[in-house]
Amino acid sequence: MKALIKAEAKPGLWMDQRPIPEIGPDDVLIKINKTGICGTDVHIYAWDDWAQRTVPVPMVVGHEYAGVIAEVGANVCRLAIGQRVSGEGHVIGMNSRAARGGRFHLDPETKGIGVNLPGAFAEYLRLPAFNVVPLPDSIDDDLGAILDPLGNAVHTALSFDLVGEDVLVTGAGPIGIMAAAVARHVGARHVVITDINPERLALAAEVADVVPVDVSKEDLNSVKARLGMKEGFDVGLEMSGAPAAFDQMVEQLVMGGKIAMLGIPARPALVDWTKVVFKMLTLKGIYGREMFETWHKMLAMLQSGLDIRKVITHRLPMSDYKTGFDAMASGNSGKIVLDWAQL
Ligand code: NAD
Ligand code: ZN
Repeated sequence: MKALIKAEAKPGLWMDQRPIPEIGPDDVLIKINKTGICGTDVHIYAWDDWAQRTVPVPMVVGHEYAGVIAEVGANVCRLAIGQRVSGEGHVIGMNSRAARGGRFHLDPETKGIGVNLPGAFAEYLRLPAFNVVPLPDSIDDDLGAILDPLGNAVHTALSFDLVGEDVLVTGAGPIGIMAAAVARHVGARHVVITDINPERLALAAEVADVVPVDVSKEDLNSVKARLGMKEGFDVGLEMSGAPAAFDQMVEQLVMGGKIAMLGIPARPALVDWTKVVFKMLTLKGIYGREMFETWHKMLAMLQSGLDIRKVITHRLPMSDYKTGFDAMASGNSGKIVLDWAQL
């Protein structure tokens, strides 16, 4: 089969031939139809410090996908050949206290498809049946291919009650935009999303009914005044990884405000903890999805009016993956979906 491979410990990804994975009794084999490019894939492409520390070479990359089950292992009875599926990209162990206690997303043995285990940028993916999520007919492969990052957005956004709350989202990347759309969908009052990139803010406004703010040009205090907000934001969703955005969020939250943090800072950053302490803020780190509860919620919301489809800005043949990676690296794209029918 063809697969996109980190073949050498240097910048780049290479399309090459690999054997079709052999599945075990508890696995399925998925024929991949569409895949999404994640920021993580761009880090692996660029071979930055994180990638060099984390990814063994050679490695088939990619973890955002939709496809069809092509083969099922002997012990698998929940799933059938021909079923349309996506899947949870975090593969867990079953020995830790957290996993045994059903808190799968907290398992310390978690391994990532396309990072530590062979990934989905391939004609076929082997996945534990446990991780497979069947797709309803109403969710096509384009959407199926971006459920993993939508799950990040949903996990972050649903960490705190947003009903009637004023929400500040920092970072209008694809995940920040989707989180803002979720905040709107579940009944927040004002949803303000910040960035320093006008193209990203324009995309945010296209995807959802949110207030885009370029913080390099406009002060958030004037935005609050414009919206008639007398106090600060109730909930912050940090989706940029930029220390400056986190500082701004701490500044703009109400006393007792809550922050869910998905954004990953590139390096350790200074925080003015005095403000966090005296404002009695609650901070929650977010990693991945709360596994199948998040998958359930996001599929249910997509079936009940959540529309994030416009966050997909590029649909490309897989043979044109370099164009897709370049668009991602430019920082101006939304989600990019690659079609494996066009190799
Ligand atoms: P992205 O890099 O596409 O978007 C980040 C955005 O933040 C960019 O548009 C950038 O212009 C903006 N930004 C930079 N400085 C800013 C500032 N001072 N104020 C406001 N915005 C600013 O990222 P993404 O793919 O949307 O992902 C969002 C974040 O979540 C990234 O940091 C990513 O690494 C992280 N992430 C974490 C997990 C996890 O499990 N914790 C999973 C996926 C992604
Ligand atoms: Zn990802």
